[in-house]
Amino acid sequence: MNATILIPLLLGWLGGLFVNYTADVLPRTRRFSPPLCRNCESQFSFMDYLALRACRACGIVRSLRTWAVQIAMCASFAYFWLNPPRALGLPLSLIVLVYFAVITVIDLEQRLILFPTSVFGAALGLVVGAGVYLKIGLTFLQAIGASLAGGLIGFGIMYLLYQFGTLVARYRARKLQAEGMADDEEEALGGGDVYLGGVLGLMLGYLYILNGLAIGVLIGGAVSLALILASALQRKYSSNALMVFIPYGPYLIAGAFYMLFVG
Ligand SMILES: [Zn+2]
Repeated sequence: MNATILIPLLLGWLGGLFVNYTADVLPRTRRFSPPLCRNCESQFSFMDYLALRACRACGIVRSLRTWAVQIAMCASFAYFWLNPPRALGLPLSLIVLVYFAVITVIDLEQRLILFPTSVFGAALGLVVGAGVYLKIGLTFLQAIGASLAGGLIGFGIMYLLYQFGTLVARYRARKLQAEGMADDEEEALGGGDVYLGGVLGLMLGYLYILNGLAIGVLIGGAVSLALILASALQRKYSSNALMVFIPYGPYLIAGAFYMLFVG
């Protein structure tokens, strides 16, 4: 085997460290603060943290997610090193991959899309979108326009879905109250998803954002259907199961990922 494969593996490992670090500290402090143990909250030394050592204070090993992210990032960096996505080219692909991983891990763990990551994503999205449209032959200004138009469409659609979701949630809260149950404040679609829609729209531009969102919603729908069927088979079905929170962010990202890396 060619030894240059070590380069993407090393870069993937570094990318994984960045994703893990970001997912560990950003939801907690909203800045790049020193990492803390997930169990006893004592501070890691920089070297212990980077070496993925167990906590020295309480002895708990690093989370399964930490290792899963490291392995997934190495594997995907190596894959795309060997098969660079045509739409983006290799360097931008790897940056987008790290960005998608950060959003996905934080959203799955915290049900949250942080505003600062969306601001960063908007800048990255404009670069990615303009790059995609330059490649298919548009002028620089046209490419910027195509990206911005996609951002508006993505933001607009997710905003409408969000408003619709708010109406449904309000109706459901009233129904729960009528049944004498406390409102559990489930929200199908968070405000962060609206910004994410804008970011992905910037990346995909006006030609591809609708497909990207549609693929994401289809994947999300298929997964929720599978979950509902699974709970029905276990006879744990209740009307509440229909409204379990779906973190839509990862599905939207899956749709955009498909458009940028596969389609
Ligand atoms: Zn600890």
